[in-house]
Amino acid sequence: MLAAMDRWQTIIEPFRIHAVEPIRLTTEAQRERALEAAGWNLFSIHAQDVLIDLLTDSGTGAMSRDQWAAIQHGDESYAGSPSWYVFLEAVQHLFPFKHVIPTHQGRAAEKLLFTAIGGPGKVIPSNTHFDTTRANVEYTGAEGVDLVIPEGRQPSLIHPFKGNMDTAALDALLRERGDDVPVVMVTITNNSGGGQPVSLQNLHAIRDVCDAHGKPLFLDGCRFAENAWFIKEREPGQAHRSVVEIVQEVGSLADGMTMSAKKDGMANIGGWLAMNDDALAEQCRNLLILTEGFPTYGGLAGRDLEAIAQGLREVVDEDYLRYRTRSTAYLGDALVAAGIPCVQPFGGHAVYLDARGLLPHIPPLEYPGQALAVELYRAGGIRGCEIGTVMFGLHPDGTETPGPMDLVRLAIPRRTYTQSHIDYVIEVARDVASRASSLRGFRIATQPRQLRHFTATFEPLG
Ligand SMILES: *Cc1c(COP(=O)(O)O)cnc(C)c1O
Repeated sequence: MLAAMDRWQTIIEPFRIHAVEPIRLTTEAQRERALEAAGWNLFSIHAQDVLIDLLTDSGTGAMSRDQWAAIQHGDESYAGSPSWYVFLEAVQHLFPFKHVIPTHQGRAAEKLLFTAIGGPGKVIPSNTHFDTTRANVEYTGAEGVDLVIPEGRQPSLIHPFKGNMDTAALDALLRERGDDVPVVMVTITNNSGGGQPVSLQNLHAIRDVCDAHGKPLFLDGCRFAENAWFIKEREPGQAHRSVVEIVQEVGSLADGMTMSAKKDGMANIGGWLAMNDDALAEQCRNLLILTEGFPTYGGLAGRDLEAIAQGLREVVDEDYLRYRTRSTAYLGDALVAAGIPCVQPFGGHAVYLDARGLLPHIPPLEYPGQALAVELYRAGGIRGCEIGTVMFGLHPDGTETPGPMDLVRLAIPRRTYTQSHIDYVIEVARDVASRASSLRGFRIATQPRQLRHFTATFEPLG
């Protein structure tokens, strides 16, 4: 199989389609009406009016035949369900933490962890906190600090591990404010930084700094399998190892993890919090019972636990991971060849289009990312996600400044779309890019004070 994949250029999906989910085709006129009704906010569009939905890769993937079969094994006993033990074994095979606490999704694991160890005056460093992670840190009164390497902040700079943490900066922070740091987090892959991986060497170096200061290290492991695949492909001396071995080594370097099973759990819902510390686990379990459920199901049904356990077996399949990363890069390569600036190298789960670069005539406060995302939908029914000034430009004091970048993220749901769907996305994007100078910006008509990107309404300018 490996040899065959290496010889032929065509990326084939390593699966056949078993259940068909129809896509409803729409006309440009229908989509224009849908946009108007939604106030030009793609979050408010009815999903049935979307042809190719690249809004997120979270919980939107297709489950396998074996996951659906596993669902039939779901045992809904309140306490001690056999499905719980299947789940526990699957998690501990990859991440041998002593305590595993199931949650309904990743942010619930974050909520438990930071309720237990956060609080005013505390500082939580990470390579880059994901937005829900940062929000859960800050909700407790603690401060989140992002210490990604400088290369990770430059969209077009090529570096194999742009998710790496700046360990000198971590060491300096721990020297200065060590007493205030309850845990060091590392996000694999670095989602907010473009799905960029963290190397094994960097993880060892972070571990050494944590040891020198007596601090626990927790993984935000949402895309652990994609991260391990990038280590296998890109890190010297790792090519001969299996993905499972690499994942196990990554797990052995940490004291615990938070996880969204909606990503590399290959499930539509679920997550967990895991750790070795007995006292911390007891504290988190007590909170779990208060907000999520009994410790052998958390916020999940037995059938969900079974689907995740099977998903964890499938996500480390190397034919799957090769297809996953190559098919994402296939989209990115074609967009770059069409002259569309993108964040590079391409991450595992998404391609990020640089709207500020493509639409220099639209100033950031007229939202070039929104203009590009809306046009991709209007022209071809493709739904991406603005990650720019709409998402990050509004401050708590009501002032507005340009976001760090104006990107449109095209996130690829797992095992859901075929190459011809992606070829269609490329064709539409090429057409939109050829008309770039005719695109116009937006003004915001209504907006809430926080997280405005979900519910703001817009009006087209010009
Ligand atoms: C999705 C995600 C989360 C949060 O998980 P949910 O299941 O959406 O609550 C946390 N961290 C990272 C890196 C993520 O991608």
